[in-house]
Amino acid sequence: MCSPHAGRMGRKIMVSFPMKRRFAPVPFRLTVLRSHSGRGLFTQERIPKGSCVIEYIGRPATAKQIKENRGKYLFWTSDTSMIDGNIPANTARFINHSCAPNCEISIRKRRIYIFALRTIQPGEELSYDYGEEYFDIHLAGSCRCAKCSR
Ligand SMILES: [Zn+2]
Repeated sequence: MCSPHAGRMGRKIMVSFPMKRRFAPVPFRLTVLRSHSGRGLFTQERIPKGSCVIEYIGRPATAKQIKENRGKYLFWTSDTSMIDGNIPANTARFINHSCAPNCEISIRKRRIYIFALRTIQPGEELSYDYGEEYFDIHLAGSCRCAKCSR
């Protein structure tokens, strides 16, 4: 089964979506470390496949932010609503884009959750696919994810 999900900057992405998902982050030990593209979010412990890893939190975007749709931390939570994740409490903002990600986004009731696509080992960096629109505007030709810099 597939469901539409809002990606960064309005790109709608289709993601495989198991029927049963627990939309409550497990308190995994995560840490912000230097990565190949600035800072990144890493796990200090094993994360089983399918786990809800963390919620991407923010404040409601302003009408101006929604209209311009430019900020790197803006995230659509429905067709008309958006949050700005550029706040200190939003640890998930450190998760980098990857073209071969180990996590994916799932939106439920206008809240954004990050799920493990596979089992993630201690010391691995977390990543998800930011979507085509974000990629084209901010990363095209300069993506430094593990896949592109191989
Ligand atoms: Zn890439």
